[in-house]
Amino acid sequence: MSTYNFSAGPAVMPKPVIEQIQAELPSFQGSEMSIMEISHRSQLFDQVINDAEADLRDLMAIPDNYHVLFFQGGGTLQFTAAPLNLATKHHHIGLLDSGHWASRAADEARRVNTQVDILGTAAATHFTALPTLTAPVDQNLDYVHITTNNTIEGTAYTTLPVTGNVPLVADMSSNFLGQVYNVSDFGMIFAGAQKNLGPAGLTIVIVRDDLIGQAQNLPSMLDYQLFADKRSMFNTPPVFAIYAAGLVLKWLKQQGGLKVVEQHNRTKANLLYDFLDQSKLFTCQVKPTDRSLMNVPFVTGTPALDAQVIAGATQHGLLNLKGHRLVGGMRASLYNAMPLAGVQALVDYLAAFEANHAK
Ligand code: PLP
Repeated sequence: MSTYNFSAGPAVMPKPVIEQIQAELPSFQGSEMSIMEISHRSQLFDQVINDAEADLRDLMAIPDNYHVLFFQGGGTLQFTAAPLNLATKHHHIGLLDSGHWASRAADEARRVNTQVDILGTAAATHFTALPTLTAPVDQNLDYVHITTNNTIEGTAYTTLPVTGNVPLVADMSSNFLGQVYNVSDFGMIFAGAQKNLGPAGLTIVIVRDDLIGQAQNLPSMLDYQLFADKRSMFNTPPVFAIYAAGLVLKWLKQQGGLKVVEQHNRTKANLLYDFLDQSKLFTCQVKPTDRSLMNVPFVTGTPALDAQVIAGATQHGLLNLKGHRLVGGMRASLYNAMPLAGVQALVDYLAAFEANHAK
């Protein structure tokens, strides 16, 4: 029986990457040392981090006036780092409240004495749609924070809010490299690696160079300018996670780049959404135009039945379909490394469950 991992993160990695890691683990590039044992100051690692940055720049067409930084601390640390580095003029940002992770970002920004204005909220729809701006954006804000993909609620931005000259800061943790965005539409993008990029422990920050370097006396580990100056090696970086992410980036290039990957992700997501929309048992409550390609929440409407669906799925090798504890039901995460066959297996299982249930 094939197994498929639908976890929202840490999530499925490409099989060829896992196999390459396994093969290279005892001796990295003939060094007789594992990648976990080599120095981050060695030439071998230099090549790894340089290739990872070059491949990421290539895949996302990152302009030269943007830094690519490798951090630790997850997406969550960037909820603090972004306001400390970028909200230096007015200590005042705007935020679109699209769900759990957006409100976590607001909380953390407030903790470092940043005023956070909620410029729109989707609370009235229980976050089954994206929020929209309720007024033109105040041009004195330091930036506007959005969550491009809402991992728990299953919404994603395709069209970005219009913010004029105020930079957009995007938490792209759960659809980084899953669909095409134009980097120059953002002042900054950040993403924890553990969904589409690689192991947890690595966070990517892509930031426009004119937006940084103005903060005074930041803790070193939160200082974007310092990380840019030190090429992300102010201290020991997460060597293994960067190496693994580098392999995933090469795999993405082999797939044909992000346009091809996005198309594949659309095919996968549509297969599941089309099934859910015609089903009499299962429903996806997310507004069709706001639906995520990555995270698909759905319910039967009866928690006890949801539990049966999840238990049966596990027996069929369809793993980690339990919805987030805040929303319940089921959630299928269809990150880049999920094959179409996995989504087909899920749809077949759900169809069979529904047919049996109707009897
Ligand atoms: N932002 C989004 C959209 C997420 O989905 C997550 C985690 O799932 C986070 C931030 C927090 O990430 P981390 O656990 O890497 O701090």
